[in-house]
Amino acid sequence: MLLKGGAMPAQMAYDMYIDGEWAASHAGRTMTSLNPYSGEAWASIQAADEEDVDRAVRAAQRALPAWRDLPLASRAQLLRRLAELMEESSDHLATIDTTDNGKPVSQTNGQVRNAVATLRYFASVNPVSDARIISDDQQSGLLNFTRVEPLGVVAMIVPWNSPLSLASWKLAPALIAGNTVVWKPSEHTSASTLEVARLVADAGFPPGVINVVTGEGATAGAFLTRHPLVAKISFTGGTVAGRDIASAAARNLTRVSLELGGKSAQIVFADANLDRALADAVGGMFTSTGQTCVAGSRLLLEQSIHDDFLARVIDRVRAMRLGDPLDPATEMGPVTTRAQFETVQRYVELGLQEGATLAYGGTPALRDGQPAGLFYEPTVLSDVTNTMQVARDEIFGPVLSVIRFADQDEAISIANDSRYGLAAGIWTRSLDRSLFCARKLEAGSIWINGYRRFSPSSPFGGYKDSGYGRENGIEALREYSQVKSIWLAPGD
Ligand code: NAD
Repeated sequence: MLLKGGAMPAQMAYDMYIDGEWAASHAGRTMTSLNPYSGEAWASIQAADEEDVDRAVRAAQRALPAWRDLPLASRAQLLRRLAELMEESSDHLATIDTTDNGKPVSQTNGQVRNAVATLRYFASVNPVSDARIISDDQQSGLLNFTRVEPLGVVAMIVPWNSPLSLASWKLAPALIAGNTVVWKPSEHTSASTLEVARLVADAGFPPGVINVVTGEGATAGAFLTRHPLVAKISFTGGTVAGRDIASAAARNLTRVSLELGGKSAQIVFADANLDRALADAVGGMFTSTGQTCVAGSRLLLEQSIHDDFLARVIDRVRAMRLGDPLDPATEMGPVTTRAQFETVQRYVELGLQEGATLAYGGTPALRDGQPAGLFYEPTVLSDVTNTMQVARDEIFGPVLSVIRFADQDEAISIANDSRYGLAAGIWTRSLDRSLFCARKLEAGSIWINGYRRFSPSSPFGGYKDSGYGRENGIEALREYSQVKSIWLAPGD
């Protein structure tokens, strides 16, 4: 069993979940999970080595034939059961993630709801609906048709900012398509995944269909991506790790999809509904303390509204409620890790050296006059140009760079002048402009008069260095399937 001790003791201890059983790491190594709000160590997590990872992959491989051949309705039923159990435990799961990554509980609750919805969506789709009979244009008398089949063992590697929703985007399509999985959560936020593993066992999934190994990226993660029995790696995380994983995958010719970072532009035109743009754009940046891949970290303002809109952004950001992330009224929690906190500090200093103006924030947040742990003020840098490093790099923290533009062409050109291409937002009342910009912007998701919209049925993924492959929708099923072409001739 995963819990050593009673319900929610001060210090929890979690084992891994391999082949339907709870397992300590073979070398007896553990890691500590820190609560970024209190600074306390609150959970101990197993640190897998190569042998543990190998055991999990082999368990998934053994479970594959029976799972693949299980009727679709039975696989779907298990997905629905898991969704039901997660829904019943949603407050608990959200509390665990908030304890681990400091994200306000109102947001982690939304993410558990998203994971539940994703499991339910994929429980209702037909993963083989792409199969077809090919018309015989050669008049050969042969029957040619396709079969859609699973790939095999899928390695799912997930970051710390949204542990359960991002995992569900991989888990649900992989399982319904008939694959088995080895799931490696981030070393900073493994606990909620292990709580879900308990529900996997309760739901009645056969042993080996879903395995959870925990550990660091450079060890457990790297072993998993190099394992020859892994048929597909589905990775969400940073661009640096993404490159390492793509090159490890190339050696074994393992399929890979990468959901990586971003430096997304939010473009506000003068003809927009500015009240709406303000609420969306501030939320689009500071949700999850700016630690989301789609954070709209470049705010592009049309010249004629620039000063007024910036003043409203500052007022809104000043009013933002920082505090205990377990308080449902909290709008922004701490930065998740010390390393990330230091990155934020470094970039703000760099931005000022580059000539940006500190319009708001720019220091660690104070409590009773003292720096409050990993809290950093929501920060607005104005007079940013797109050549500055703060406009080019993903900071992954609460730092908004505000850039002014003269006209539509310049807005598009600034937005596209980035090595990333994950998302973009446009605010305008003009339908023509909306559609023109949506066509020209180089990003995988375009939100018009809104931001941060996701649905299990809508494809999500990056252009350029933001990665390749798509999650959600019918596109996700194709990421976890392969097509066989069958030719049938008469036997005589
Ligand atoms: P990260 O890349 O450091 O780690 C992500 C996961 O990969 C973790 O589980 C980690 O243990 C593992 N990992 C790290 N190096 C590895 C390696 N060499 N081999 C195998 N596994 C390895 O990222 P992070 O700091 O956890 O998350 C932040 C990053 O994730 C940001 O860049 C952010 O933009 C990105 N992100 C992208 C999306 C998206 O959908 N595009 C969503 C959320 C986060």
